Order: sequence, then structure tokens, then C-alpha cells
Amino acid sequence: MKIRIASLQNGLNNLQETILPVKLDLDEQIFRWPVVVDIIADKRVGKIIVDIEARTEGEFICDRCGEPFLVGVGDRYEVIFIQRESPLPGEIPGDDLRTYSPVQDELDLTTEVRDAVLLSVPLKLLCRDDCRGLCQHCGANLNIETCRCEINIKN
Ligand SMILES: [Zn+2]
Ligand SMILES: [Zn+2]
Repeated sequence: MKIRIASLQNGLNNLQETILPVKLDLDEQIFRWPVVVDIIADKRVGKIIVDIEARTEGEFICDRCGEPFLVGVGDRYEVIFIQRESPLPGEIPGDDLRTYSPVQDELDLTTEVRDAVLLSVPLKLLCRDDCRGLCQHCGANLNIETCRCEINIKN
């Protein structure tokens, strides 16, 4: 996703775009729906402060029961672009502070939008907080059925 610097007015600019996950290099097996991106770009003298909010849904596999489930993911991400003749040493896309040159046409926000989505994916993926998982003996999904193992073990 790119924004044209010349199209920004001084002060606040609101932009919205819907982007296909494949264009953000996101895994299409997980992210099957478009990413909705809201941007507030604050253009000042010599710098542009970009506030990105990206939202979508991902289909993940539950860590406990192995069933697929949907999760809303997304977050906000702020990056400040400073006008300089050349980038800072070691500067890479995804840094909080970026450089844009006086002759540059566009700001490329692809990495920032992707990070806003990926960094919000929960570390522990559960279809629901009280997912009961699979029976360790017979493999039954205990969310949808009650197996007889526990009864048999007790006996
Ligand atoms: Zn589960
Ligand atoms: Zn069982």
C-alpha cells in the first residue's frame, strides 16, 4: 500500500483502502478476507506522521482441539517519516522513524500494514477460552462430544 505525497494536504488527511492479503505478502491460507486500512497522515513541514490502523480476520487452528476458527486481528501502527537527503544508516521498512527524500513520490506502507496485522495475532490460539480440547485416549473433540474414556478409566 502506497500513499502519494503530492496528494496530501498540509495537516490531517484521512485515507481508507481495502487491500487483498496477497498484496501484503500475508499467508492466504490464513488471511482469506481483505485487510481494511484506515490511515491518518499528518503532513507538516519536513515530516509526515502516519497513523495506520489495519483490520482483518484470520482463520487459525486451535492449539487445543485442532479445529479451525476465525479471529479478528489488527492493530494500530505509527510511523514518522522525516524528510532527509538520504536514509539513516541501517534504516529498514518497519522502523518507527523513516526517511523520505525531497524528490520521492510515494510512501510505501506495505511492511507497516503487514506488521500491524501479524503482530496482533495472539501467541496462544484457542477457539474459545474454555476449549476442552481432544481426549488424549480416543481423540474425541470434547467440545462437541463426551467420550467414555474417563468413565472407563475410573472403573
Ligand atoms: Zn479449540
Ligand atoms: Zn476418549
